[in-house]
Order: sequence, then C-alpha cells, then structure tokens
Amino acid sequence: MAELAPIIQLGNPTLRQKAAWVENIQDEHIQQLIDDLITTVVKANGVGIAAPQVAESYRLLIVASRPNARYPYAPEMEPKAMINPQIIAHSTEVVKGWEGCLSVPGIRGFIPRYQTIEVEYTDRNGQLQTQEFTDFVARIFQHEYDHLDGIVFVDRLENTLDMMTEQEYQKRIVNNA
Ligand code: ZN
Repeated sequence: MAELAPIIQLGNPTLRQKAAWVENIQDEHIQQLIDDLITTVVKANGVGIAAPQVAESYRLLIVASRPNARYPYAPEMEPKAMINPQIIAHSTEVVKGWEGCLSVPGIRGFIPRYQTIEVEYTDRNGQLQTQEFTDFVARIFQHEYDHLDGIVFVDRLENTLDMMTEQEYQKRIVNNA
C-alpha cells in the first residue's frame, strides 16, 4: 500500500546532494517509493515531486500535472514516474513562469526555463522512453530534474524581485489570470 512520505524542506542537506542512479528499477524499495511519491504529490496539491524531496536520494521523479488549488491552470495528465531521466535536447527559447516547491513552502519565483525539451527516461516497467514536453509540463520536468542535482528553484532566480509569498501570488497572479 502506498504511504504518504514526509517532505523535507530547504536547509536539509539531502536536498543539496547529487542523487544516485537507479540500478535496479524492479527493486521492491524503488517500486514502493514510486507509489509513495505519487500518493504524496497528489495529496500535497503538487504537480511534480522528486525522490530527494522525501529524503530518498535517487534519480527518480514524478510529473503529475493536473489542475489543483496550488496550480489551477495546470494541464491534466496521469502521474508518470521517470527514472534516470535526461534532457537530450532543448529549444533555444527560454520562457519565464511562476513556480513553487513543496520543499520551499510559502514562496513563489518567476523562473526562466527552456520552452521545449526532449527527454529520455526509463519507466517503472524498465522500458526506455523518449518524450517531448512544452510549456508548463516542460517547466515541471526541469524543476524536478534540478532536484536530482541538488538544485532548488530559488537558485535560478534572475533577480530577488522575482519572488513572492504564496499569499501575494494567489492574490495577484492566480486571481488575475
Ligand atoms: Zn521542488
């Protein structure tokens, strides 16, 4: 059965580590971790989560875009586990958009990301997959992928003026969209 995993927050050194390659995807611990991450991200109103955020330093992330209270305009998709992911190509276009992070509660940042990326990853059944993502889903992937290298979204702020509290973000950005 999937369980809720406690999410670690900025300041915890595990968030700053480079995560380890997953050697055996069929390993019971990894499969359980995937189930727990999916349960946790849905429950927390997240659109993505990376294994290091629950103190499991593996190259494993979940993209789970769907409209929710924190991201009312997110596109709907089935939660997908991506293991040992890599960005194999990207657009030259970079777009800025608002991000938050379950490990940095209460803070939003206007962060530049590639508009389109081509990624390669292994799915939970061990199949190698190639996929293209654009706009918001590309943004989620890049944010979660950063967690695997110990990078947090605030590291990518171009200017501290691009930060807001969650409360001001809800008032100024979400309600004016
Ligand atoms: Zn995050």
